[in-house]
Amino acid sequence: MSPERVDPDDYDLDALRERFLPEREGERSTSIPQLADADPDLCAVALALPDGTVRASAAADVPYSIQSAVKPFLFALALVDTDGEALGRVGIEPTGEAFDAIKLESDTGRPPNPMVNAGAILTCALVDGDDPAARIRRIRTGLSAFAGRPLDIDDDVARSEHLLGDRNHALAHLMRAEGTLSATADDAVAVYASACAVLVDTATLAVMGATLALGGVNPVSGERVVPASVARDVVAVMATCGVYDGSGRWMRSVGVPAKSSVSGAIVLSAPGILGAAVISPPLDEQGTSVRGRLASEALAADLGLHVFG
Ligand code: GLN
Repeated sequence: MSPERVDPDDYDLDALRERFLPEREGERSTSIPQLADADPDLCAVALALPDGTVRASAAADVPYSIQSAVKPFLFALALVDTDGEALGRVGIEPTGEAFDAIKLESDTGRPPNPMVNAGAILTCALVDGDDPAARIRRIRTGLSAFAGRPLDIDDDVARSEHLLGDRNHALAHLMRAEGTLSATADDAVAVYASACAVLVDTATLAVMGATLALGGVNPVSGERVVPASVARDVVAVMATCGVYDGSGRWMRSVGVPAKSSVSGAIVLSAPGILGAAVISPPLDEQGTSVRGRLASEALAADLGLHVFG
């Protein structure tokens, strides 16, 4: 380890948090009332290390809905439950467009990748379960294994997402029309809405990121959650598509595969090294947390996490 790199065990996460707390840029998502009302000064950061140590700043135990930070884990569960067949059902190319763009692959009618809404609506429909309630149960159990503790769903958030997610309904109908989604559009959106409404906190999200970073084994529970090949596939797609139309800039400046979300949460998976998470609700134009991006850049630089050195 080069001398300028800080050991994750010694890293001062409260100092990192306090450094970016005064930042005032960005706007909260207005997509649902619960996000519009989020505390704009919520800011937390956490790390989960291979030996099962979880290190967290102040406020890392404050719960929020996982939103799009769920997408890597949905992709993982869909890969496991379809025995890899999900890879033929969803593309893996970055779109250069917004997360909710009404766009499918023109030649196949597949969603472009599992990190945009169309792709996640589809991966939700690919997990095991004969009906929406069973698929929601499967997703909740699967996410809980990534987290190493039982996770709950915020039913009010799920209802708002289902009711107000007009673009998601449009995407589901389009995939139905293309023959790439077999569930009904409403069932597919209902499952996706519940997946986005799973409650996590920043320490928990870091453990989830670590499980992907560490080859599919949860470092806290010791459980193998997904095969190493699945974890690798998911982290690869996070690297190329995880920050939507900001993915290229993210990989240049932070250099750690990650997934952003409209709650302001970001989950990071530094391959073979650690998982991390940050939360702060005010977002930039691409729907990435402003403080979250700044804190991630600093974290990656200080700990030497950039995958390209
Ligand atoms: N639930 C949100 C939506 O479907 C998730 C989007 C996001 O976090 N980028 O619009």
